[in-house]
Amino acid sequence: MEFEAEWLLLLPILFGLGWWAARVENRKQMARMRQLPKAYFKSLNYLLDNQHDQAIDALIEVTREDTGSVDLYFSLGHLFAQRGEIARAIRVYQNLLARDDLVDAARHNATYKLGLVFLQGGLFDRAETCFTTLRNSPMHEVALQQLLHIYQSQQEWESAIDVAAHMQQTPQIVLTRMHFNCERAQLALTQKDLPNAERAIDAALAIQANSIRAQLLKARWLLLQNRAKESRALLLKLGEEQPAALPLMTGELMAAFEALNEAQTGTAYLYAQAQSSGSVDVLNAWIEAQDKYGEPSQTEALLYALFTLHPSLNALDKVLKKRLSTSTDLLAKQEYQAIQGLIKKQVLQFSRYRCASCGFEAARYYWQCPACTGWETYPAKRLEELEQAKRSRGQVNGY
Ligand SMILES: [Zn+2]
Repeated sequence: MEFEAEWLLLLPILFGLGWWAARVENRKQMARMRQLPKAYFKSLNYLLDNQHDQAIDALIEVTREDTGSVDLYFSLGHLFAQRGEIARAIRVYQNLLARDDLVDAARHNATYKLGLVFLQGGLFDRAETCFTTLRNSPMHEVALQQLLHIYQSQQEWESAIDVAAHMQQTPQIVLTRMHFNCERAQLALTQKDLPNAERAIDAALAIQANSIRAQLLKARWLLLQNRAKESRALLLKLGEEQPAALPLMTGELMAAFEALNEAQTGTAYLYAQAQSSGSVDVLNAWIEAQDKYGEPSQTEALLYALFTLHPSLNALDKVLKKRLSTSTDLLAKQEYQAIQGLIKKQVLQFSRYRCASCGFEAARYYWQCPACTGWETYPAKRLEELEQAKRSRGQVNGY
């Protein structure tokens, strides 16, 4: 190609055009910058005047002019949500979602935040819709976590099981799935729906074959099917393999022994277990069974032997209670009553269960902590036993 000198003349013209275009763009930018503060300040003024609805309208005006201002919606939505102004927070996110120029990432985020606000306001159905639309999006996992929370709190176990099955199978989720099936089984057993209970128990055992809770439910189910012998065999094996299950299974076990007309053997079994384990719950279950089926003249001596073997406030309370009911000596009775009155408060306090995860204390045993919602975070031991175990560990360690 031959170079022509005339082309050189075009260079300054092109340069000039470039300079002019840049100047025009700069002016536009400056104009936008001049407009923007007005709308921003308008919105801010409304906010300061507590005129929140007008502030939202002004904000929408801002975002029309500046498509990059999506973050403002999120900030305002967050602000309202934090202040508990649910209706306003919902309006902010709904307005944001109504924009047709919203990129997918922002749309997903806004849908998620809207779901959280619905949840905060107790609007579970709407929250569920938001999180459901996020299934299979990049926010899949966090949306499933929220859905799990909703179904769990609403006790919709079928839906909860479905969601948990689609989540990343961490050990925690696997345990959660197992307990959801146990919850389903428990509900079915209460409703005497034995076929459904069996399906749920089998599903729980398929997830965790050695689960104490699932095996206890199986024992209860067998009993309801008039299969007391199998129920008892299952429980005795469970107690042998996992002594931690003993305090939790006394009710089912005695029911199986009663159904087989062997309540006295059951009572003797509980006594032997109370001797070897020192469990407060097993001791209490034995006293109940002994009062019903045992030889009354032996109760006091047997109880006192247990108390000396595993001294505890709970056992002392039971000894005093027994002596109060059998003693004929008025003076001695008054003494027992006085001591019982003194220890009553401590007995109550130390007979609580404590969550190993968050420390929440409860008068009854929970499979799921009501405070931190962790599964199996309660040891099947009363506070008194836990404290005793801690003390003996300290002694072993020389403290
Ligand atoms: Zn807890």
